[in-house]
Amino acid sequence: MSEQQNYQILLYYKFVQIPDPEAFKDEHLQYCKDLGLKGRILVASEGINGTVSGTIKQTEQYMQDMHANPLFADMVFKIDPSEGHAFKKMFVRHREELVTFRVEDELDPNEISGTRLSPQEFYEYLQRDDVIVIDGRNDYEYDIGHFRNAIRPAVQSFREFPEWIRENLSEHKDKTILTYCTGGIRCEKLTGFMLKEGFKDVAQLEGGIVTYGKDPEVQGRLFDGKCYVFDERIAVPINQTDEDIIVGKCHHCGKPEDRYINCDNDACHLQHVCCEECEELHHGCCSAECEEIVAASHNAS
Ligand SMILES: [Zn+2]
Ligand SMILES: [Zn+2]
Repeated sequence: MSEQQNYQILLYYKFVQIPDPEAFKDEHLQYCKDLGLKGRILVASEGINGTVSGTIKQTEQYMQDMHANPLFADMVFKIDPSEGHAFKKMFVRHREELVTFRVEDELDPNEISGTRLSPQEFYEYLQRDDVIVIDGRNDYEYDIGHFRNAIRPAVQSFREFPEWIRENLSEHKDKTILTYCTGGIRCEKLTGFMLKEGFKDVAQLEGGIVTYGKDPEVQGRLFDGKCYVFDERIAVPINQTDEDIIVGKCHHCGKPEDRYINCDNDACHLQHVCCEECEELHHGCCSAECEEIVAASHNAS
């Protein structure tokens, strides 16, 4: 193994009753800091959802320690090799919900959620013409990569899903619906919600896009573009076959592109798809307005 690949990124979640999430959060933060991990972990009374980076030694220790805890004994970790940390700091936060959904009824994925499909099963379903495929993520995630023919939900945050589904999919309650997201956690809630809404047949991609991309048989087939991730990598490749294509478009010139940058204007910070030429041309800004603000601040200092 090369010196550069001595780090790993872990992605994981588990819906399980955590008795005192506030106390657990404090202890877990200290433990992660002592171990030397960086990343973002959410803790709720309904479970845990995290993504952390560290050396192979640190991350292996973390997985071993988590598996030794009866609450997390069967937790599945998705592991990506990395050249270094993928986060700047270590956060552990207590939240009401692991994914902010705020529907009227509580949704416990251990009680109600869609059929789980392995990457191979999902790949077979994708090729049927009697299924509807919904991207269970936000529109900006869809825009740089998604499963071919998946519907792009017009949502900018997960809590907008219930309304979008009621408005756009209600006439398809008898159809087979497939959902997918990055690591699988959002689908756990989404499919449960849809079943409660009266959808008859709802299935979700177990382990999400990242697991699908690692499957030696499907090799990411039918996923076009890159997968948006919530760490410093921003986007990762999924399709390992030669069908790999770019689906994003530069915010300025419209050329095929899948790199996101943050607007250089600190007051804006809009994350937008931008090609290298346009980044230089527009000084890393999303608009002429932002460019002026940044230029003015440079002149002032
Ligand atoms: Zn451009
Ligand atoms: Zn801007």
